[in-house]
Amino acid sequence: MITEKIFNDTETAFKLKSDEELNRALFLFGMINRPALVKIGTTLTKWSLKLHLPVEGLIKATIFNQFSGGETMENCLPTIRKMYTKKLHSILDYSVEGKEQEEEFDAAMKKKISIIKFAAENKELAFAVFKPTGIGRFEIWEKVTSKVTLSKEEEEEWKRVQQRVENICEAAHQNDISVLADGEETWMQDAADELMERMMRKYNREKAIVFNTLQCYRWDRQQYLEDLHQKAQKEGFKIGAKIVRGAYMEKENERAKKMGYDTPICESKEATDVSFNGVMSYCLDNIDDISTFIGTHNEVSNYLAMQIMENKDISKNDRRVWFSQLFGMSDHISYNLARKGYNAAKLMPFGPVREVVPYLIRRAQENTSVRGQTGRELSLLIEERRRRKGEITKATREKRTTRSTEKVE
Ligand SMILES: Cc1cc2nc3c(=O)[nH]c(=O)nc-3n(C[C@H](O)[C@H](O)[C@H](O)COP(=O)(O)OP(=O)(O)OC[C@H]3O[C@@H](n4cnc5c(N)ncnc54)[C@H](O)[C@@H]3O)c2cc1C
Repeated sequence: MITEKIFNDTETAFKLKSDEELNRALFLFGMINRPALVKIGTTLTKWSLKLHLPVEGLIKATIFNQFSGGETMENCLPTIRKMYTKKLHSILDYSVEGKEQEEEFDAAMKKKISIIKFAAENKELAFAVFKPTGIGRFEIWEKVTSKVTLSKEEEEEWKRVQQRVENICEAAHQNDISVLADGEETWMQDAADELMERMMRKYNREKAIVFNTLQCYRWDRQQYLEDLHQKAQKEGFKIGAKIVRGAYMEKENERAKKMGYDTPICESKEATDVSFNGVMSYCLDNIDDISTFIGTHNEVSNYLAMQIMENKDISKNDRRVWFSQLFGMSDHISYNLARKGYNAAKLMPFGPVREVVPYLIRRAQENTSVRGQTGRELSLLIEERRRRKGEITKATREKRTTRSTEKVE
């Protein structure tokens, strides 16, 4: 039985942080704990950048440094190597969003391929990642999903998008680096699912190189996985499943309401938790066919994965199971998993400060007290500061209950 509450170990979690860095993180999370401040800060940041005011230094010293690895791949390397001394891997994510032009999509594809090559040369990097709408217009994914007839130009455009995905997956295969396709809004996702399935069929003959994302806040994902599994068994390919809860809940619910269709989202947080844990269990139960990338900050789900692995005699470092959290968040999970010998990786966004701002704003919004995550981050940081001052003993820490928005069954 997994009885040891490894995530209570804040000493391991923040070992790489000096007292000064710890205080800086405390200050930052203290600020973004206030929804009103985040709202004002978001508006000010957007306007300042639009007006070309010199705010990049300020952004860089605060939120950028917390949630991003640097501006270039090379910039990120010192942090990547430092984390690896604690056996924690990284996944570089070039987080430039909102592009619309074909040349920009080609450039994004080239960047992804250069990251794959960089990952092949640096053992600290575990995966590569891409966002489907980062290499093709959202509207084209949406049109293909809705199965409307494409115009001649659109057909050409869609061919180019598919070719970009193919080039990324082929480079991943050639370099033996697995690649994760992010999950996005349901009204473009079918096109991505179908394309990623084709890529799995082609490149996952021996092992999972191509991973698709399953957003488990969707109530249909267990069925989707079971159907895919049947095809994989019949046709002889492996599945790469990146499982997350999902990041677009409000948007999904609002659109469904506005357009008058049933929401694709589970009816409650508890239902999403059941869905996530069910999908995760299914993957781990079928480890010979499915490689699993578990992307969550939820302690209960992480403990559950560890428990299932123990029950099924899956070794902690089995290359078919990975755990991952976002850079700058939930260090208590990542570092403690890595220390115990599990495959753990931080998803590390990087890019020019100005370009990464939309990603940073999303992280700040997700971390407001309304969403609950900051409570978790803040209490961990406070706990570690108290531990360093000698105010907390090991025994007190071990008594602490699981920190999660999910109820322990
Ligand atoms: C490594 C990594 C990669 C990621 N990649 C993607 C990606 O490709 N696509 C993507 O969409 N997201 C992605 N995410 C974000 C992820 O989907 C979640 O939004 C985020 O991780 C919070 O969920 P959690 O499991 O960590 O924590 P928890 O706090 O346990 O769960 C919060 C999540 O539960 C769900 N939820 C909350 N309230 C309700 C409710 N009332 N009803 C139903 N469901 C509810 C929402 O999905 C919410 O985000 C990724 C996260 C990580 C760590």
